[in-house]
Amino acid sequence: CYILAVETSCDETSVAVVKNGTEVLSNLIASQIETHQAFGGVVPEVASRKHVESITLMLEGAVREAGISLQDLSAVAVTEGPGLVGALLVGIMAAKSLAFAIDKPLIGTHHIAGHIYANRLVQEIKYPSIALVVSGGHTELVLMEREGSFKLIGRTRDDAVGEAYDKVARALGFPYPGGPHVDKLALESETVEVLPRAWLEPDSYDFSFSGLKSAVLNAVNQHKMRGEEGYGPAIARGFQESVIEVLVEKAIRAVQSTGAVQLLLCGGVAANRGLRTALAERCGKERIDLVIPPLKYCTDNAAMIGAAAYLKWKSGEFSSWVLKAEPSITLESWSVGTCPEEG
Ligand code: ATP
Ligand code: MG
Ligand code: FE
Repeated sequence: CYILAVETSCDETSVAVVKNGTEVLSNLIASQIETHQAFGGVVPEVASRKHVESITLMLEGAVREAGISLQDLSAVAVTEGPGLVGALLVGIMAAKSLAFAIDKPLIGTHHIAGHIYANRLVQEIKYPSIALVVSGGHTELVLMEREGSFKLIGRTRDDAVGEAYDKVARALGFPYPGGPHVDKLALESETVEVLPRAWLEPDSYDFSFSGLKSAVLNAVNQHKMRGEEGYGPAIARGFQESVIEVLVEKAIRAVQSTGAVQLLLCGGVAANRGLRTALAERCGKERIDLVIPPLKYCTDNAAMIGAAAYLKWKSGEFSSWVLKAEPSITLESWSVGTCPEEG
């Protein structure tokens, strides 16, 4: 089974060819980060236009690099949501046109299912499994009782963790996307400014990062008013320690209380070195099997969309030609076996 996958939900245009849901034959990614940096964040209208400019070349490139012909393809997959509606539409139109032209099925795919199944590009997933999704727009704990079934057991009530990283980075003077800068600063810092942790109710798997973000902004303002300098590293470390402690604690508790046999980390913030190390140490201690995809599969890419789409291909759940962009589609509704669409 060869699936050509398209991902245009945000600011990366990506096309991949994935064999049997696990083997990446090509995975081309055109990042628009430099374009959006001038604005300090992703500008939706600009993102759509950029996708339009590069999508055709990316499609050709991905097929060429995979060393197959279009007729070898089994299906065409595309991110249908969540994401920016205009950006999603570009990928959907391209995928539909191609699928129609070569007479192959179309598979609308959930972006977060993609982030989770990026792990399948690394190794076999064992069930039940818990996924900790940490990205620019999502912070979730997902229980997968079997392959392709998704149950949301916790989510952020306000900011996503990547969003909080980007805002804190901006307050400390770093360009978008700021996550990697804060990560680096935090790990290099020898001092720490302790910041609050939001645990919420004792049994809750939900997250909240807006209070922490406000605490950072207040601290920065106070340092500035006192005319102090060099406070950045201690704040970055305090912020990162607070984020990591809560993420790790809740993820471990989710694994232990559900009897999950594996913990999957995914999403762009999975690139965070502090989080990777803390989670690995804790999982080692608790004897939990932890899987973390390599960096190139953590941030947005089409290979992960091909991996998730393979589940729908196996169960024969294809999308119709009226497939629409679904900016806020839920992960649960995309579970395999729950939303058969007519082909
Ligand atoms: P979503 O997947 O929820 O739609 P997205 O696709 O925009 O959101 P990703 O591309 O998965 O998000 O991740 C981007 C986010 O990851 C940005 O907020 C970025 O700052 C953050 N990020 C990347 N590297 C790191 C790092 N080392 N530490 C912390 N955050 C990071
Ligand atoms: Mg992105
Ligand atoms: Fe993403």
